[in-house]
Amino acid sequence: MKFRIVTGWSLCLLLLLNDTAGLKGQNSQSRWIINKQIEIVPLTEHAYLHATCDSIPGFGWVWSNGLILVSGHKALLFDTPVSDANTEHLLTWLDDSLYAAVKGFIPNHWHTDCMGGINTLKHRGIPSYANELTRELAQSKNLPVPDKGFTDSLNLQVGTLTATAYFLGAAHSMDNIVVWIPSEKILFGGCMVKALSSTTMGYTTDGDMNAWPITIGRVKEKFPDAQVVVPGHGDWGGKELLDHTLDLLKTNSQNLKK
Ligand SMILES: [Zn+2]
Repeated sequence: MKFRIVTGWSLCLLLLLNDTAGLKGQNSQSRWIINKQIEIVPLTEHAYLHATCDSIPGFGWVWSNGLILVSGHKALLFDTPVSDANTEHLLTWLDDSLYAAVKGFIPNHWHTDCMGGINTLKHRGIPSYANELTRELAQSKNLPVPDKGFTDSLNLQVGTLTATAYFLGAAHSMDNIVVWIPSEKILFGGCMVKALSSTTMGYTTDGDMNAWPITIGRVKEKFPDAQVVVPGHGDWGGKELLDHTLDLLKTNSQNLKK
């Protein structure tokens, strides 16, 4: 087989065709292709998954997931695309196609695949809320700092709907949170939750491998009603993603002991 160097959008397309990335696999729900780097998946009447492909230094081209909750003409955004350019595209699409203006933003944790586009939000005057630990980590790394902090949990209202962010402990990162949308029964797990196609724990340098299974255990206990579970990367699914993550953690720690 011949290899050729692929860059930019063409690589995003290639990644999309690969079952380790993009939005392909067990999910047969319709998706809207906004451009070669942005896809939207309507999960429920009010909730949309955004998957965006960007180049992350040291990792190459990566598809990452985020979430949008819409009520009336207002929206909450959970995670930005990595780049300001894709964040701008996403906000413009929300304005033009869903007629929804983003009224608040919560990043899952301090990494670039969660808040890389925060400056675009700041320029638009969109308030951001984050785990206090996320704010501290961002500050210590000279990154833009989300506006307001919370410690254990935070309720955000959009129109008639509510989303609650919970910090349940370290895992993929020390500050990672989950977001629960009770009306939709959607759990946005972010990078602490692995897609079924994932066979490794991914990037773990900033995380806590000992705390990770404990934190996933808390997530399982707290959201028994979750019907849709969205990981940070790859296919969404149901609660089986939490068990898959626990299985991977077990394999990972057994491999480390060998
Ligand atoms: Zn991360």
